[in-house]
Amino acid sequence: MNKQVGAVSVAGASEAQPEIKEQARKHLVQPWPVAGGLGETAHMLVSASEAIYIYDEQGRKLIDGPGGMWCVQVGHRREELAQVLYDQSMAMTYSSPWYTTSGPAAELAAVIADRAPGDLDHVFFSTGGSTAVETAIRLAWFYHAVRGKPHKTKLLTREGAYHGSTFLTGSICGKPRDRDWMTQFDDQVIRLSSPATLRRPDDMSIEAFGDHLVAEAEQRIAEAGPDTIAAFVGEPIMASGGVIVPPEGYLGRMRELCRKHDILFIMDEVVTAFGRLGHIFASGDVFGLDPDMITFAKGVTSGYFPLGGTVISSALVDEIKQSGQDSAMFAHGYTYSSHPVGCALALKNIAIMEDGLLQHTRALTPYFQKRLKELESLDLVGEVRGMGLMAGIECVADRTSKNPLALDLEVGARIDTHCQELGLLVRPLINMIVMSPPLIIEKPEIDRMVEILHEGISRTMVDLKKEGLWSGA
Ligand code: PLP
Repeated sequence: MNKQVGAVSVAGASEAQPEIKEQARKHLVQPWPVAGGLGETAHMLVSASEAIYIYDEQGRKLIDGPGGMWCVQVGHRREELAQVLYDQSMAMTYSSPWYTTSGPAAELAAVIADRAPGDLDHVFFSTGGSTAVETAIRLAWFYHAVRGKPHKTKLLTREGAYHGSTFLTGSICGKPRDRDWMTQFDDQVIRLSSPATLRRPDDMSIEAFGDHLVAEAEQRIAEAGPDTIAAFVGEPIMASGGVIVPPEGYLGRMRELCRKHDILFIMDEVVTAFGRLGHIFASGDVFGLDPDMITFAKGVTSGYFPLGGTVISSALVDEIKQSGQDSAMFAHGYTYSSHPVGCALALKNIAIMEDGLLQHTRALTPYFQKRLKELESLDLVGEVRGMGLMAGIECVADRTSKNPLALDLEVGARIDTHCQELGLLVRPLINMIVMSPPLIIEKPEIDRMVEILHEGISRTMVDLKKEGLWSGA
């Protein structure tokens, strides 16, 4: 029997469910598996999605709290975007970026250059966020090498950061448990402290904490020697690290520190660009920064096509051109760099954003943040923080010591399970959950989201107490 879900037919999907799950269990290796379950994971089967909702295998309608993976900005199942995929595929499916140019790629590069801050006027397209950051790092090395500084190779990163899953980008991630089991590029990485204000020393003001972070960076740069450091790579707001909003002024001071030491300042805006903070890019419009490079992905296509890119400053490009190394090759590119279908889709996606959605996001932000903040009234919640339409809810075992460690570390997953039963998908991150719904969300839907979160966290508190894992505030 065909099952109607909203306007979407999921014909076949429900009948074929056991088979699909079995195929997944036997053959599909999904991201971030654990050794004991490698190649045996069959996550929740999702076969339909619409607007801010996804539908699970029982046909249940769930608010897509994480917006896919911080990416479904304009919402699911938009016909005008599907049409672009069709039209561009039929007009010109693909041609090699090595020796041809397409209209959509050129136009998208021009649009992005126009929206990017300062003199960031050049765009190198990749296939997603990891490849965008990888491009930025390799270009930083190339830049220093052609200028006769090949020893500037080290990378400044921070605890808690996430920059991707290639070897290089994985090496600059900062979450300890993600680094445990695979070889890393450690001798080239300088890890600075996380700018998480919740974890600052008890007697330190946020302002002093900002000073402390910058002083630490200065000291680590001096220890390593500025002439060994290529770049600082940082998210303006650490996303997967738990939506870490840094102390005010910290990013600007880090930018100046990098400039002083000829260290490239790379803002990883894979999450924060394309609407999440109400602007196309947050570096300039929200934080007043002029980075040397900005990386983006995710929201640029709202999840309808895998695409990312690196925006590069004209000053950097000019210095490379004027280095005198005319024949030095930046041997870097992807088969799907500048994919015409992805670029055409991105143009339409940006047009939708600029036709009121960015404004809607900015207008809705105070309400979204205020409503979520109310969850701090629950004893298990140590902090709710965020900016734009992204927020992190961090659970603590003890609100005075803010200690997450005495707590069952999978508390986020427990909250997710309860919330799913109530109609909301959340993204669990150990002792935290993060929210980044599609930007088309409206106030009543935010109210419903907060109501479910309240109930889901309350039920988790009851479970934890019952199991003797938590004694309360
Ligand atoms: N950079 C940041 C800030 C991210 O959050 C992510 C992914 O979540 C990446 C890079 C990697 O992007 P991708 O998964 O598209 O390779």
